[in-house]
Amino acid sequence: MLSTMQDVPLTVTRILNHGTTIHGSSHVTTWTGESEPHRRSYREIGERAAQLAHALHGDLGVTGDERVATLMWNNAEHVEAYYAIPCMGAVLHTLNLRLPVEQLVFIVNHAADRVVIVNGSLLPLLAPLLPHLPTVEHVVVSGPGDRSVLDGAAARVHDYEELLAGKPTAYDWPELDERSAAAMCYTSGTTGEPKGVVYSHRSIYLHSMQVNMAESMGLTDADTSLVVVPQFHVNAWGLPHAVLMTGVNMLMPDRFLQPGPLAEMIETERPTHAAAVPTIWQGLLADLTAKPRDVSSLTQVTIGGAACPPSLMEAFDSLGMRVCHAWGMTETSPLGTVARPPAHAVGTDAEFGYRLTQGRFPAGVEARLRGPDGEFLPWDGESAGELEVRGPWIAGAYYGGASGEPQRPADKFSEDGWLKTGDVGVIGPDGFLTLTDRAKDVIKSGGEWISSVELENALMAHPEVAEAAVVAVPDEKWGERPLATVVLTEGATADYAALKEFLAGRIARWQLPERWAVVPSVPKTSVGKFDKKVIRRQYADGELQVTEVR
Ligand code: ADP
Repeated sequence: MLSTMQDVPLTVTRILNHGTTIHGSSHVTTWTGESEPHRRSYREIGERAAQLAHALHGDLGVTGDERVATLMWNNAEHVEAYYAIPCMGAVLHTLNLRLPVEQLVFIVNHAADRVVIVNGSLLPLLAPLLPHLPTVEHVVVSGPGDRSVLDGAAARVHDYEELLAGKPTAYDWPELDERSAAAMCYTSGTTGEPKGVVYSHRSIYLHSMQVNMAESMGLTDADTSLVVVPQFHVNAWGLPHAVLMTGVNMLMPDRFLQPGPLAEMIETERPTHAAAVPTIWQGLLADLTAKPRDVSSLTQVTIGGAACPPSLMEAFDSLGMRVCHAWGMTETSPLGTVARPPAHAVGTDAEFGYRLTQGRFPAGVEARLRGPDGEFLPWDGESAGELEVRGPWIAGAYYGGASGEPQRPADKFSEDGWLKTGDVGVIGPDGFLTLTDRAKDVIKSGGEWISSVELENALMAHPEVAEAAVVAVPDEKWGERPLATVVLTEGATADYAALKEFLAGRIARWQLPERWAVVPSVPKTSVGKFDKKVIRRQYADGELQVTEVR
């Protein structure tokens, strides 16, 4: 029997129409660095999104599911592109401006982007790439920047504001199939070549509803969210979509992502929520410690993208900024788990432990664990295996290029279509996930596994350790052993033996690293995570000064 319910497509256009009318007076504020921050209401965002769609279609000839790329910071214009492009039926391709240039060239060509909307400040990055981007016919420049670097480019160059000027402020948005492509994002390649994940209108709609649930971010129109996580990094974790459903205001840092300006933004604009990867918060913490500010408005901080060190959570808690840990990946839109402690643990000794897990799976995400021989493991909080997930906002394949079929590599998708996350961990009987490592980062020592993350967290709890990254290095006797690379705080006096002794109180003796190196900084990936590939290469090439402590 068929249901008797209406079958209304779940599209980004529905979110746009809702957010720009019902929540038309909520706004996005963009930090400008010098003058007053710039404010634009969601009603104006809707009008300008319509103007942008007219320009893309009428002036630039964008039709069908052509790809329009953005090379932009988090700002109001980027939000306009987020809606104009998918709602007109085209596909938004957010470009990660921190990718190595050869990877940027690869993904623009792979996606066959026809238009690039670029912030003026990023023209020095784009201009030299253009000769290698034959599909790009139009470059639309938004905001200040020296445009002369585009002189001689084969692509036609337009000014964003000039294109929009005088265009109608309404657009007859087409009725779209909810399963059609709305946006694409390439994985940042921490683990190999970038791979294109293509989000559907439906997956974005459903994911946004989950982001808005109280068990996830649970924000309302009384909130302002400081969106530090870039719009090119998994759609800024879905925030620019989710907020138009609920009228949450957004505070966008544009290119001012250093700790100083972020602290100033928090003090003056008083956001109630913020989202970013741990390295951003480590930097902010150091800044706030050196120069205390009024950050009392910020009561909820979402941390994900990499494990949140317990010491960071404690430090933020003590400043009144309550951390909520979450796990996800480009392939999961990204919301996979959120660590809100269960009611029975709140106020007890168990609460902090729950908050440090990666979190609990929402109803839309199914999970299972696989052991080394492919067997399914119980949710007993002890059996560690690779996490596999499936659900309506989880990727089932990668983009195969204009003429190619979607790709389902066997190391990323199971035979029955589940996503293999490459993350190793345990799940408790109550559905809380604790990741112990990435499959490729775990240290396989004499048939036992050592968690690099556990060692890092224990090291970073030492007061003289600013950052620590641990990688597996080859060892004749054990196969692999941990190498600890450590960034010391200014004026630190701790030596390796002392650090090892510090670890001994927290970690089983046989897991303690023998190889140590102090480094000026930990190499980071394009989205600010520890780049362990680089550390392994530095070690192999003899670039690190390694001391052995037996
Ligand atoms: P990349 O794979 O290129 O780093 P993603 O941003 O998609 O790009 O990263 C997803 C990965 O980040 C996850 O598979 C996981 O290993 C890691 N990750 C994300 N959130 C967390 C978290 N809260 N704790 C530990 N690891 C995390």
